[in-house]
Amino acid sequence: MLIIFLINAIAMLPEIILEPGALQCLCASAMETYHRESGGFLMGKMVTRTVRKRPKKMLLITAVYPQQTARRGYASISDGNMKAGWRARVLLYTLSGLKGVELVGGYHTHPHDACELSKSDLNYLYEEVRYHKGREGFAVMDKWLEIVVSIEKRRYITKYSEEPFHSWHLHKRKLEGIVAADSGTGYHFTVGAFWVSKLDKEPKSEFFGLGKKKLIKEVKVHAPV
Ligand SMILES: [Zn+2]
Repeated sequence: MLIIFLINAIAMLPEIILEPGALQCLCASAMETYHRESGGFLMGKMVTRTVRKRPKKMLLITAVYPQQTARRGYASISDGNMKAGWRARVLLYTLSGLKGVELVGGYHTHPHDACELSKSDLNYLYEEVRYHKGREGFAVMDKWLEIVVSIEKRRYITKYSEEPFHSWHLHKRKLEGIVAADSGTGYHFTVGAFWVSKLDKEPKSEFFGLGKKKLIKEVKVHAPV
């Protein structure tokens, strides 16, 4: 896949910048199924943006696809309907590369939980890149970007403005934000981006034998504004 080539070519795993619409979809997806995890796929392309007056290559997330038939648990998400899940993947793989936009990875939400990748997340991704079982035209992606969106609802004792509002700020690598649904309730979001490498390693024990530090690299998420 082209994106993998580009990522390898620049030697480093790129930082992430979200289109405003992509941020909206990630957070709406977490907010809609607030008590359960939700997840899906990410599309993106390499762009050059100016950071501190210098050009920097980044991966722009252009679109977010929430998987509609997923089985959503309180602390897990999986395919609820394997055939439907396969159909969505066929579409995403087939159109990957259209106008330079590639399938680059996925996302899932962590209701009331840390914005980090767990061991079971790694296990899920190892299976995800093999979902197509080696069918022609479907490569085993060795690098995968997984965005984790943590969400927590908070009740405010001091009432905010009556109008709904939102605010965002960068905290080290993660993007944090608050969306107030009404004057007494706010949803707090933390968005983290994790590159997982060596997913093509066989067997699975060898993959896990490498340890989280070698497999996961968290990169900065740039705000769309
Ligand atoms: Zn997770």
